[in-house]
Amino acid sequence: MRQAGLMALLALVCVGCGPRRSNILLVTLDTTRADYLGCYGRQVADTPVLDSLASGGVRFSRAFSPVPLTLPAHASMMTGLFPWEHEVRDNGLYRLGEDTPLLAELLAEAGYWCAAVIGAHPLVAQYGLSRGFQVYDDDLRSSVNPFDYPERPAFEVTSRALAALQSCPSGRPLFLWVHYFDPHAPYGKPRGALSGYDVEVARVDQELGRLLTGLPKGRWAVLAVGDHGEGLGEHTEATHGDYLYRTTLQVPLIAFGHGWGHGEVRDDAVSLVDVFPTVLAMAGRASPPNSGRDLRRRQVSRPVAAETIHPLVRYGWPPLRSVEYRGWKLIQGERMELFRTEKDPKEEEELSRAYPDTLAALRALLPPLPSVGQTAPLGPRDREALSALGYFPDAGSSIPPRDELLEMLEQGNRLVTEKRWEDAYEHFSAVATRDPGNLWARMGVGTCVAAVGDLATADSVFRSLLDTHPLYLPALQNLAMVRLMLGDDAEAVRLHTAVLEIMPSDMTSLEALAVCLRQQKKYPESLSAYRRLAEARPKDARVLRDMGSLLAYQLRDRNEAARLWRQALAIDPRLPQRREMEREMQRWEAPGSQ
Ligand SMILES: [Zn+2]
Repeated sequence: MRQAGLMALLALVCVGCGPRRSNILLVTLDTTRADYLGCYGRQVADTPVLDSLASGGVRFSRAFSPVPLTLPAHASMMTGLFPWEHEVRDNGLYRLGEDTPLLAELLAEAGYWCAAVIGAHPLVAQYGLSRGFQVYDDDLRSSVNPFDYPERPAFEVTSRALAALQSCPSGRPLFLWVHYFDPHAPYGKPRGALSGYDVEVARVDQELGRLLTGLPKGRWAVLAVGDHGEGLGEHTEATHGDYLYRTTLQVPLIAFGHGWGHGEVRDDAVSLVDVFPTVLAMAGRASPPNSGRDLRRRQVSRPVAAETIHPLVRYGWPPLRSVEYRGWKLIQGERMELFRTEKDPKEEEELSRAYPDTLAALRALLPPLPSVGQTAPLGPRDREALSALGYFPDAGSSIPPRDELLEMLEQGNRLVTEKRWEDAYEHFSAVATRDPGNLWARMGVGTCVAAVGDLATADSVFRSLLDTHPLYLPALQNLAMVRLMLGDDAEAVRLHTAVLEIMPSDMTSLEALAVCLRQQKKYPESLSAYRRLAEARPKDARVLRDMGSLLAYQLRDRNEAARLWRQALAIDPRLPQRREMEREMQRWEAPGSQ
């Protein structure tokens, strides 16, 4: 998009009549490193839309995520609380507590019409962020990434967001949250001077331009913000979640439009927890108690803290905590790393021995260590890792070298995405041999042997995993899959039921349960599982189709079956098995049929 045209478009967005309170657009840019945008200094970047928002609004040059993981970081934006306060500390294993007030809920109370369109599985409604939204579009059926999280591309996210706005009532201010996931690994093909990662950032930027162009006329304020960055090989980290360096903690944050300055760059340290009180203030609503600050005012110097318990949950290693304050940063795991970030922003020179007083002062500002009860998939190894860290913070000798093992695991993950199961197996099993408590390595071994059809070995790998981590949902689900492939429906049902006892909102297990129960000829039980699914995902045509089939063929309720099939076809006219359903319904209507 041409710069001049874009500025005209942005002018259109921020003036006009509309309600007295401005509409608010919150754009969350998954896995987007600040320094990969043109406005943050990247020469080759192709990000004209974000650059224009920055030059016409306020750009925060030191914005940080409190956790380099999608769900916990978004939970912080939506609650104004740090992960150790809202207690959603990793993807897939936690659900936000019902009594924690959410941004959209408070905006809805204040008269806003709230809609969200999300781009990937970590944020689907089951994890608790959908309260308050009239529309929460988390339909990922068009998933383009079968080996990682289900996700959908930016083009579709923008189209769905524009479609959602069609249903908004007139006369009410709007809050629209749009989540773009494309820059998350795996990346696309490089293009010219752009890396594959740059290309995906550029695609999001382009789609953001299309979204802005399509917004209804009125007065808008826009906040565009990253949830965390990406290692891209720096500090030996390819992606994010395992470390707390600036590569994954620093995020872009740009505010534009009604109520914001023009062409301002702010260098005070801010955190994603600030999004919550800022948006509420923009909407003219008072905030409940939270840990954020209103970003419209410059912040006095404050410690910026972060954590990741991902190493504990995945590998059984001590979690990491960090704090950055007045130009210094401390990262603590089994060892301590001190960096003078104001002079060494890339965090290359470790200074803990040279500055013991600074180190001690920063240690006092670290966030609290997770207590044993707060780590979901807890096993004995986790307890050990935590207590070692809690009582003997400097004694990390029993922890294997993270960098080396993580590199092998990263390679294993990559080989899995290429379906090179045997090669991936070599990497995972080498790590599991050196570090027997490593959950991820053992999961990798189980997944690879299952993929090549060695179900007996897969079965014993997942079982031994559950001996040490009885609440680890992915292991329960994988074992259920293996049991089903071995023809043991009953055990698959038991395992999916166990998952649903731990995480009642887990849609993967609920759907699998409905299918298994049907196979076991437990039709009423299968129907009730489908009913729960349809209640949680009323727009999921596939679920309506399958529930209809159960009613048609097993429960002999043709009226109800036809109603569900028609509903499914209205939602998705290109649904597979459409012809069979239509033929069947015609047959039922034919004279003499019953
Ligand atoms: Zn993310």
